[in-house]
Amino acid sequence: MTHATHEVFNQPLPLADVNLFDINQPLQDAVRFNAPGLDTGALRELGRLAGSAEMQNHARLANVHTPELRSFDPYGHRIDEVEFHPSYHALMGAATAAGLHGTPWSGAGSNPHVLRAVSFMLFTELEPSILCPISMTYAVTPALQENAAVYADWGPRLTSRAYDPALKVYKDKPGVTMGMGMTEKQGGSDVRANTSQAVPDGRDAWGERYRITGHKWFFSAPMCDAFLVLAQAADGLTCFFLPRVLPDGSRNGLRIQRLKDKLGNKANASSEVEFQDALAWRVGDEGRGVPQILEMGTRTRLDCSLGTSALMRQALAIAIHHTRQRKAFGKFLIEQPLMKNVLADLALESEAATALALRLARAFERHDDAHERLIARVLTPVAKFWICKRGSHFSEEAMECMGGNGYVEEDGHGIQARIYREMPVNSIWEGAGNIMAIDLLRALRKGDVAGALQAELAPARGAHAALDRMIDALPTRIDALANETEARRLAQDVALALQGALLAQTAPAAVTDAFCASRLGGDWGQAFGTLSASANMDAIVKRAMP
Ligand SMILES: Cc1cc2nc3c(=O)[nH]c(=O)nc-3n(C[C@H](O)[C@H](O)[C@H](O)COP(=O)(O)OP(=O)(O)OC[C@H]3O[C@@H](n4cnc5c(N)ncnc54)[C@H](O)[C@@H]3O)c2cc1C
Repeated sequence: MTHATHEVFNQPLPLADVNLFDINQPLQDAVRFNAPGLDTGALRELGRLAGSAEMQNHARLANVHTPELRSFDPYGHRIDEVEFHPSYHALMGAATAAGLHGTPWSGAGSNPHVLRAVSFMLFTELEPSILCPISMTYAVTPALQENAAVYADWGPRLTSRAYDPALKVYKDKPGVTMGMGMTEKQGGSDVRANTSQAVPDGRDAWGERYRITGHKWFFSAPMCDAFLVLAQAADGLTCFFLPRVLPDGSRNGLRIQRLKDKLGNKANASSEVEFQDALAWRVGDEGRGVPQILEMGTRTRLDCSLGTSALMRQALAIAIHHTRQRKAFGKFLIEQPLMKNVLADLALESEAATALALRLARAFERHDDAHERLIARVLTPVAKFWICKRGSHFSEEAMECMGGNGYVEEDGHGIQARIYREMPVNSIWEGAGNIMAIDLLRALRKGDVAGALQAELAPARGAHAALDRMIDALPTRIDALANETEARRLAQDVALALQGALLAQTAPAAVTDAFCASRLGGDWGQAFGTLSASANMDAIVKRAMP
């Protein structure tokens, strides 16, 4: 062959058939710190499954063959169903079997919420968008328990590990999923602007029944079996339980208008809906809709932090895997000093995100503990704000490590590009960045949050001078904050201080030193890859190796 034109060389192999738990040392250390003694057998098993080429192919297919709305049957009857590729159902079945949707609420085992959080992270590295209904189903329980009669019927099905996608009455289903409807056209952050109306319609075994008329502008996973929705009742905005199929087997008045054409999150359906006299049962008192549904929102915010941390880890692992196989200018890319700086900087960010997100998950484990309650309250907006805010920037840089290959999707094979499109959603939904920063100010007014933060940071004192300075400065800054203008700045610095403190307790000195010097001490530029040459980059990258 004198004219061979298609000899392929210097093209890295994809990261496939790996155990996502075994190859993630920072995650393992964060698990040890937050749940010492936790049996990690189930995590190893899920790590193997989520890292398998077979499941990766399901993720690819579910993203390429996106959900389609079927409004009518062939005879013109409205059916309002969403049709998914079989790979979507394979992923949903695997996530449900792993207990990511509700198992912690069944009360079995030790550290169930941390176990579920780590499992959620591992699954995110497989496919994040199908986790939308899984996350909402996990999050709904504390809010739904306010209607004991509904919960008695639905609770066991919400925690069951059986996945049944059929649209039928709850009694005939071994497992169910739930979503939420708050956002309307005229207001998402400010849900008090909701105009959907709820009119009393009597009382039955599930309590006070209403008829709801109105709409939701964003309504994700509309094929869930039921939803918590907000609507205006006589005494104000109220939370309701709205099933898709009524107890008598007939379909409720919920019309799916269309599916959203989204930037990412492709495997998941998000819709616009209208309620036409839809039957719903009250959850909590009239006028208490916002605090009631926030019981749910708090946990989906936790999942936004866990999910983004996991996507960072995945993007980093793929970048490292690529750069250690690809050569340029006579060396593997990972050996080039400047690429090493980029990878080390990303590794610091990724480990810090993992540490903060799992610390937050631990706070949800101990609701009987006053300190943990305060930490959950303050860390939820801080972690959601900061981790999700860093996600898009992070994935852009991880993609660039792969050059042009990073930017190409190629029929769903380009995972790095898919991650990049997925990243912004966790920052926008469930309280966008500004809303989270403002919520931090609200949290700071609940009890001695400043004291709880100091207690949380205390074990790390002495680990790094820049961290000590930040810890000393925070109480004055919290006291001095007069209005919202600097709320993002405070949220950022509380997050960085906590991340530094957590790394000091879980990571090697190379990681803690470089993180504190760059993020807290100012020895850093304004893009990733600007660590000081004094950072031990070899050690940092080695620790992050997949
Ligand atoms: C893929 C996807 C799925 C979704 N799924 C659902 C779902 O299932 N159910 C549901 O109810 N919603 C869902 N949402 C909606 C989402 O929660 C809202 O988009 C989000 O809460 C923001 O509301 P909004 O779009 O009305 O923006 P707005 O409320 O108009 O906010 C726009 C911007 O203004 C900022 N802002 C608002 N108020 C202030 C203030 N006081 N000070 C400073 N800045 C402010 C916000 O931070 C934001 O950056 C989904 C969104 C997406 C993208």
